[in-house]
Amino acid sequence: MSADWTDALATALGAPVQTDADILASFARDQAPLAPAGTPIALVRARSIDDVVTTLRFANERRIPVVTRAAGTGLAGGANAVDGCIVLLVSGLDRIVGIDEATRTAVVEPGVLNGVLAKEVAARGLNYAPDPASRDISTIGGNIATNAGGACCLKYGVTGDHVAALKLVLADGTVLRTGGLTKKNVAGLDLTRLVVGSEGTLGVIVEATVRLLPAPRPPSTLVAFFETLDDAARAIVTMNAGADLSLLEVMDQVTVSAVDEMTRMDLDTSAAALVLVQSDARDASATIARCEEVCHRHAAKSVLCTDDVEEGRLLLGARRMALPALERKGTTLLDDVAVPTPAIPEMLDRIRRTGERHGLVIGTFGHAGDGNLHPTIVFDRADAASASSAFEAFDEIVRDAMRLGGTISGEHGIGSLKQAYLGPMVGEAERALMARIKAAFDPNGILNPGKAL
Ligand SMILES: Cc1cc2nc3c(=O)[nH]c(=O)nc-3n(C[C@H](O)[C@H](O)[C@H](O)COP(=O)(O)OP(=O)(O)OC[C@H]3O[C@@H](n4cnc5c(N)ncnc54)[C@H](O)[C@@H]3O)c2cc1C
Repeated sequence: MSADWTDALATALGAPVQTDADILASFARDQAPLAPAGTPIALVRARSIDDVVTTLRFANERRIPVVTRAAGTGLAGGANAVDGCIVLLVSGLDRIVGIDEATRTAVVEPGVLNGVLAKEVAARGLNYAPDPASRDISTIGGNIATNAGGACCLKYGVTGDHVAALKLVLADGTVLRTGGLTKKNVAGLDLTRLVVGSEGTLGVIVEATVRLLPAPRPPSTLVAFFETLDDAARAIVTMNAGADLSLLEVMDQVTVSAVDEMTRMDLDTSAAALVLVQSDARDASATIARCEEVCHRHAAKSVLCTDDVEEGRLLLGARRMALPALERKGTTLLDDVAVPTPAIPEMLDRIRRTGERHGLVIGTFGHAGDGNLHPTIVFDRADAASASSAFEAFDEIVRDAMRLGGTISGEHGIGSLKQAYLGPMVGEAERALMARIKAAFDPNGILNPGKAL
């Protein structure tokens, strides 16, 4: 592929630009194996904000697409290359600039790993709450660009709820600051929140100021196994409605069996579902005891409760292994739908019926407390019929979530994977407005074209 501008870009940056096809191929995709991806022409490893500005100015003048990439752990193809693009790698900008206990904020470069920041602030008795399961491998910039969720969202909200301010480079190289340090701020439109979840389509985040909380109280934990998925789902809805919970997760039988096979944790693989609950409320132990009663009322097979933090952490280990365990079973098509919590029993039932109809194995796990489910379709990629059934099942699940008043993506984003569903989800008027907002930020449409909106 032609690369007649890459030398000029290297000169502008004062540093080499990577054009080796094998290296470029390794930066062409994120972790969504089936999301569409193109072929990049160049890889720029940003070493400074100036490198980001220079790259964007250069690309904007020549109308070259730019795909910002951080750790590449996305699950919707958001960081996937488009044909002829520059991949702008920002994971090297990974300094914690400062932690301010007075304003309870931290200023970080975008490539700081979530887990690194979380540990650093925990050492000062503070808490960076957003906790995607990928926190040890994904970046704060990527988390903000995808508005990443996690188990704690049930109580503490998503990434966007913890972003105070951003430094953003626009497509033409303009450097912009949005937001501020104050908790209250109603000066003009909330551009910070607009950039959150925009998947690199509005600008490149080069610095973020995030909010910190006091360290949470030690949690109490409950683990319950159920005879039927419906009993588990109804217990989830009841517990969620009435208690101060910090975590409420579900795993179906397929997922529990896969995890047990991988970890030998001795889980009850005959149960139809496993439900994990935590509370860090002032009366956590009593809250969990009330949840135990709810589980028994919904015919739980067995319930285990503990106030021991380490035991609770070990029990949650089963949930953390859900995706890797299912990935060992075959090619996986991971979905990320969310429904209003009262619709969880119906959604779980529809997913089960979809699997049966197509003769497919679907392992479902997820953040049940906020209705965010990850039905994971396991299929044989080498078998065309199996692959086609998997995509049909995926389509049915996404459309069922919409029918039940839910969303096509709870936390992974639209990327290149779910483009087809955004119109049906938001309607043409809203989608057209999104396109006009995008054009205001990026008139030449160079930033991650074909993603997010
Ligand atoms: C095992 C595993 C578990 C996961 N668990 C969760 C989970 O619990 N919750 C969840 O929400 N997600 C989860 N994910 C998905 C993924 O980790 C998140 O989407 C994460 O936020 C992506 O961060 P990243 O640094 O890898 O970004 P990338 O994948 O590199 O990029 C993601 C998107 O953000 C854009 N982007 C990245 N950096 C910037 C920047 N500085 N400025 C502008 N745009 C930028 C990219 O263009 C792309 O559109 C998981 C993934 C894996 C592999």
